[in-house]
Amino acid sequence: MLNEIVNPLLVWYRENKRVLPWRDRNNAYYTWVSEIMLQQTRVEAVKPYFERFISELVDIPALAACPEEKLMKLWEGLGYYNRVRNMQQAAVTVTEEYNGKLPESFSALLTLKGIGRYTAGAIASIAYGIPVPAVDGNVLRVISRITESREDIMKQSVREKIEKDLLLIMPKDCPGDFNQALMELGAVICVPNGPAKCENCPLGDLCRAKKNGTVSELPVKASKKERRVEERTVFVIQDGEYTAISKRPARGLLAGLYELPNMLGHLNREEAINAVKELNLEPLHIELLEPAKHVFSHIEWRMIAYRIRVSSLEKYCGQKLIFADRKETEKHYAIPSAFGAYVRYMKDIKEEEK
Ligand code: SF4
Repeated sequence: MLNEIVNPLLVWYRENKRVLPWRDRNNAYYTWVSEIMLQQTRVEAVKPYFERFISELVDIPALAACPEEKLMKLWEGLGYYNRVRNMQQAAVTVTEEYNGKLPESFSALLTLKGIGRYTAGAIASIAYGIPVPAVDGNVLRVISRITESREDIMKQSVREKIEKDLLLIMPKDCPGDFNQALMELGAVICVPNGPAKCENCPLGDLCRAKKNGTVSELPVKASKKERRVEERTVFVIQDGEYTAISKRPARGLLAGLYELPNMLGHLNREEAINAVKELNLEPLHIELLEPAKHVFSHIEWRMIAYRIRVSSLEKYCGQKLIFADRKETEKHYAIPSAFGAYVRYMKDIKEEEK
């Protein structure tokens, strides 16, 4: 029955598709950047990041040559920084081996760092018109509901079967439109959160889940492993002008980014003061800030924080701390959103006291 969805889906898409800054521009680099940004972030949030990114890094060789600090700044706020690191590694490969242009082949795209089957399918079909499916979470949900499949969409075998089925029905003259139409339907009509808008769906007459009243039960998705909870204490250490920040290790979570100094565990005031003294700094005033939480894919940080005024940050304190004011930080140091609740305290204390 799936081949019956092709025409109504394409007609609906062409009449209703959203205007997006990367859409209909026929530029494989733009498709690539947008697809990577969209992997963990909503469309509306991605738009300004996308515009800024491509105006600073106009093509793949520019991305390949971008200094790390600048790249992290351009990605700041999007999270999952490995995405952009992988993209830069792939950009180096493309610059060296493909003359700065993404290869026009699904299998060659798949060899590039950070490009999986979905992204390779999206670039190949949207930018190059190659008939290959691009199956993301939206597509899995739509197809599960239309066919009323109760198979677990987290299984690779289920994804592969859907890819095969879609390949059979994909119109060879407009595979990009077809893939985008399915994704778009999943994003705006057959939505993941809240009730599906079946009354506005172009596939309503064909959908088995709608017919049998099982929409809310689908898709079937095995629950993920529980996240590890980590308690942390964050320090906003400030003198008259500057706040202490440090660079994270080159490997692991938030690798190579900047952070407010922090420690495992929830420290009480005395322990926090002692920890700061151990940095050879002299605490003058300590204030407990509000708790905050940040959820990564596998870990959840539950943070408390202290804002600690010290006599001077200028002197050597035996640690690799950087002393920065807010403006400098905004310009040069990428601090991940995990610290967002406390970064806002990074302001010029002199100004506060005026
Ligand atoms: Fe999704 Fe409803 Fe459309 Fe079926 S009819 S594809 S459940 S929106």
